[in-house]
Parts: sequence; structure tokens; C-alpha cells
Amino acid sequence: MRLLFFLFGCGALWSQPTYDLLLKGGHVIDPKNRINGARDVAIKDGKIAAVAASIPAVQARKTVQVNGLYVVPGLIDIHAHVFSGIDGHMLSGGDSSIHPDSFAQRVGVTTVVDAGSSGRLNFAEFRRTIVDRSRTRVLVFLNINAKGMPGDPKEQDLNDMDEKAAADLAIANKDVIVGIKVAHYNGPDWTPVERGVRAGSMAKIPVMVDFGDFRPERPFQDLVLKKLRPGDIYTHAFYAPVPYFDEKGRLLPYLLEARKRGVLFDVGHGGAAFEFKVAAPAVKQGFPPDTISTDVHSGSLNSGMKDMLNVMSKFLNMGLPLDDVIYRSTWNPARTIRREELGHLSVGAAADVAVLRLEQGDFGFVDSWGAGLRGARRFSNELTLRDGLIIYDTNGRTRESWDKLGDYKHLGEPWWDGTRSSGRLRNRSR
Ligand SMILES: [Zn+2]
Repeated sequence: MRLLFFLFGCGALWSQPTYDLLLKGGHVIDPKNRINGARDVAIKDGKIAAVAASIPAVQARKTVQVNGLYVVPGLIDIHAHVFSGIDGHMLSGGDSSIHPDSFAQRVGVTTVVDAGSSGRLNFAEFRRTIVDRSRTRVLVFLNINAKGMPGDPKEQDLNDMDEKAAADLAIANKDVIVGIKVAHYNGPDWTPVERGVRAGSMAKIPVMVDFGDFRPERPFQDLVLKKLRPGDIYTHAFYAPVPYFDEKGRLLPYLLEARKRGVLFDVGHGGAAFEFKVAAPAVKQGFPPDTISTDVHSGSLNSGMKDMLNVMSKFLNMGLPLDDVIYRSTWNPARTIRREELGHLSVGAAADVAVLRLEQGDFGFVDSWGAGLRGARRFSNELTLRDGLIIYDTNGRTRESWDKLGDYKHLGEPWWDGTRSSGRLRNRSR
């Protein structure tokens, strides 16, 4: 009897598929692991379980064919605006913020970092209402300003910029807060930058600076050569007021010097901060951004920026190689925010995955100031996975045809059906 049970048990085990989900036949680009080639990707319990040239479909409960598509780590957008707090009758956070789930997973983005929409007085509300509830993984640059982005004149009030309080809050919420944001300052002094950097030093996290008004009293060169530490981030890298070229159109050497110091240049496209006339020659002369990001809000979403894949497509058409575009949208942003568990497809990593199509055709792109660029290639999204769950399925690729299903009842959303029994994201990891 015992022997029978043993044999039966073994047989049952043998026939159990090893993996929950298999993405089969795709081309993997995983810059951290230096993979750029045909690979199958298997997922189990929300984690990457195997990446190999060929994994048999019988080993997985569900196999999704992704031939002709690129399988990359879930995209990480380190400059987004996803919180509009209410302060009396005013919106106290970024006043054109939008919910992360309304734009991210549609385009393969699995992690967004809110860039300063909240400060120490409204971070708790942000955390409770958005960060802890969204399907998108949300991390935070905490604004040095106590209320985040309440608009002027409140964003200019130095009394509201307490570096010790910001650092303490960041340390107490280090599972979510990955950096400090300084933004929109129009005064002649360096006070917000200096306080932001001190807060970052106390909490051992990077600072992201939106330089605000460019003023002769505080030259931009000093920001990146003297004020910021290695690992700190200047966002809005291709904003026209940044001094980029000499009178002959050659890249200014101080930019390379700043990069050599370890200061990072983030795109932060947004509604006003990205010009082809800066970005195209900069890329051509060997100065690509460290990180590709959107500065997404309701304004930029509906103008030239559009979404993460559109910004990535711009760089592709300005000449940045495909694998480099992926690197600067996945692994490099993860390193920048010091979340090295994200941004790659290593075995054991959270299965945050984007399956992208590279369309060929005649496409047009628009910068923040209304100028155009034609291009022959454009990314579009096919599938987005977060922690192994299919959270977006553009073409119904994971779905059975209705006429093969008989009298079907509600089959659930793709993210229900994917790999786990429950429709909710459990064991949330950030
Ligand atoms: Zn912004």
C-alpha cells in the first residue's frame, strides 16, 4: 500500500508542470545579464524561474507564444507624477498628476517613481491612497518642500524645506522612498539644492534636481560640477536652457566632466523639457541620457511626450541602439534608484516583464516645443507582467477564441487568469 502510494505520488508529481507561465519564442534583451538573443522565459510563483534557448511548453501550465517580439524587463520610469493631494480647496501635489494604473501598464511600465509630487506633510496620504493600492509598483522621490508641488508661491517658501524632517521620513519609509526631489525654485540662491543634498546624505539616498529657473547667480555648471554628489540626478537633461554646445555646435566638455564625476542625466521629457535640437546632436556626439523617463502628467501625456514607449522610440530614431534604449529604460534606472533587485530577468527576480513589438513604418514624433522628427521604427506594447501576473494584454494574446469556449461564463481579466488563483496581487513587493 505504501509502495503503491509512493509510485502514484511520484507519477502525479512527474506530470505536474514545473512553471506557471512560459513566454516562448521571443527575443530577450536583458542588459544586466548581457542577453540579447532568442530565449524562452519561464515564470513560477511570480518570479523568473528559467531563461533558456528552449524550454518545452509541456513544462508550463500556460504557454504564450511571443515570436517576433522583444521580451524585456518591465520598464522603469523614474520621473512620473501620480499624486494630487487635497489641501483645503487646493490640489497640493502635482496638480496635473494622474493615477499610475491609468497609463503605466498599457505601455510595459511596471515601476514608476513619483518625482516630488508629495512632501513630508502629504506623503502619508500619498502612500495610503496610491502607493499601497496601485497595481503599478510606485516608488517615491520625496519633495524637500513639505507639501510637494503646491504651485507658486508655496514652492518657493524656504521655511517649508526642512532637510532633517525629510530625511527622517525617508528613513522611516525606506521601502518606498528612494530619493529626495528639489524642483521649480526661482530664487538666486542654492538653498533648496543644498538642503536636498543634505537630506539625501542623511538618508543615504540620491537627490533628483529639476533646476527651476536658470539664473546667472547659480550657473548650471556649478550644479553638476560642484553641488550634486556622484549618484545624484539632474532631470530635464535635454531642456533648451542647459548649456550644451559651443558656437561650433560641439558638446561642451563640462558635461563629460560632470558625467565622469558620477552625476546622472535623466530625460524627464514632460511638457516643456525636451528639445530635439538638444537631444539629437547630444546623442550623436556620444552624450545619451543615463535614464529615459517621461515626466508624465495629464499635460505631457496628451502632447509630444505621450508615453514611455514614445520617448524610447524617439531615442531609437535619433540613433541610440535598441539594446541601449532598453538598458536606459530598465537596468540603469533600477541602479539609479538603488533598487538592483529590479530591472532585469535574472532567475529569482520578480517577474516584471514587458513584451514589446518593434513596428516598422513611417512614424512621426514631436518634442516639447512642437518640432517634429520622422522615424522608421516605433515600440508598441503587447503584454505587461507584474510579479508574474499578466496585467495588460494588448492583443488578447493570452485569450482563447470565443467560439472554442462553448457557453463560457466570466473568464476574468488577463491578470486573474495568468498564473495565480487569486485576482489580487498578493505578497506585494516593491
Ligand atoms: Zn516632473
